[in-house]
Amino acid sequence: MTMAEVMECKGTRYEAVIGLEIHAQLLTDSKMFCSCSTRFGSEPNTQTCPVCIGMPGVLPVLNGRAVEFVVRTGLAMNCNISPYSRFARKNYFYPDLPKGYQISQYELPICEHGHVDIVVDGTERRIGITRIHMEEDAGKNIHQKDGSLVDLNRAGVPLMEIVSEPDIRTPREAAAFMKKLRAILRYLGVCDGNMEQGSLRCDANVSLRPEGSEGFGTKTEIKNINSFRFVEKALDYEIKRQLRVLEGGGTITQETRLWDSNAGITQSMRSKEEAHDYRYFPEPDLVPLEVSDEWVEEIRAGLVELPDEKRKRYAGEYGLPDYDAEMLAEERQVAEWFEEAVRLGGKPKAVSNWMMTELLRLLNDTGRDISETPLKPAHLVGMLRLIEDGTISGTIAKTVFEEMFRSGKEPGVIVKEKGLVQITDTSEIEKLVDEVLAANPTEVERYRNGETKLQGFFVGQVMKASRGKANPKLVNELLRKKLT
Ligand code: ADP
Ligand code: MG
Ligand code: ZN
Repeated sequence: MTMAEVMECKGTRYEAVIGLEIHAQLLTDSKMFCSCSTRFGSEPNTQTCPVCIGMPGVLPVLNGRAVEFVVRTGLAMNCNISPYSRFARKNYFYPDLPKGYQISQYELPICEHGHVDIVVDGTERRIGITRIHMEEDAGKNIHQKDGSLVDLNRAGVPLMEIVSEPDIRTPREAAAFMKKLRAILRYLGVCDGNMEQGSLRCDANVSLRPEGSEGFGTKTEIKNINSFRFVEKALDYEIKRQLRVLEGGGTITQETRLWDSNAGITQSMRSKEEAHDYRYFPEPDLVPLEVSDEWVEEIRAGLVELPDEKRKRYAGEYGLPDYDAEMLAEERQVAEWFEEAVRLGGKPKAVSNWMMTELLRLLNDTGRDISETPLKPAHLVGMLRLIEDGTISGTIAKTVFEEMFRSGKEPGVIVKEKGLVQITDTSEIEKLVDEVLAANPTEVERYRNGETKLQGFFVGQVMKASRGKANPKLVNELLRKKLT
């Protein structure tokens, strides 16, 4: 089943066909073919050498760690790993590419024929992965008023390109796919997924076709998108633009376009006729890449549990709602936090509830990462015990939780310091109940005349009078006894 959104135009119903090409920077310490550092944000041209600035007479040496990372990614995305692949030269001229070519992979990529599952609106869909190949990054041009400068720190940094099949049908699915890839890459530790720094970016290809037809229409490609929101918006815009062209009786031109996030539109960058002919040919300075079965199996054995497996396990084993399971599994640190709390004896549902509501809200409000808070799983589990044994009420627990999040103090200490212990002394609660009943004679009258739903009102008043500390069960019991 597809979730295609069908659009009507001149009596024909159209659906969108989308395929993404995602570039991810590999988290290796050194570059792809030399030992220069890949660190981000250093002074321009301080991380360069004769190899990565393309001096004549030098030879590239392949970074084995980069290969391992791509194989790991391929396995996690259910690809076949080619025992034999080859590097190719992609030739073009640009000031940020002193060699005049980029070393990439062309006919024989290292990973092929995989897939990744996404969930949109509760429906799971499988998106094919055509290929994953390795390539080196180019440098960076910096344009200033008085001229342009070139920084080659990024030249030769290892990238992988993940190419999807044209299986995506809506802009929302495209965003979900990109999110899923980012989650997997971060779980695997092969890419930091930092989209602002350009560690993860995508080119989105889109075409329209009459609903139900098998063939493909002419596509346009939107280059270099660096956020989930933009991929969705750019595709939305582009689909509407293509519809308008078809509505006007025109045809789509195959071209590369750029997303202008300020204007909210895509603009033509170059047409097919202006497209580069890269004159790919096998890289003569590198031997073909051979990956042994043994090494692949070793890498497979070291794979961590991935977000999809976690999501399914949380829903199955712990009975969490699908939405909660998905949220908790998306980020590795969040998932590990959750699992640690469960390991320490927290009931999965209670842990999940506190994480999904209070914790996410506080993280959101403070703009912090889960690893940046002093609140640890043990704090939450300790607090849950205090609720269970009746020391504090659920209402008071919220105050305790916020304080733990802020200061990292133990829940027991906070309860003592702030005098938050629950009131379970019957005579003390009885006194509060009497006061509330005396202060609300009309409501008491109405209750006795059959309006028993006023029970909630009285409970609220007593809880308020006790500043949230009265044991709700006792309050309810005493109220019922006194009112009837
Ligand atoms: P190109 O040679 O223009 O780079 P590819 O065949 O390599 O095209 O495909 C690039 C990306 O575009 C892939 O993600 C693929 O799924 C997608 N794609 C290919 N054809 C279409 C189409 N007609 N409509 C939408 N996406 C497409
Ligand atoms: Mg292509
Ligand atoms: Zn170098």
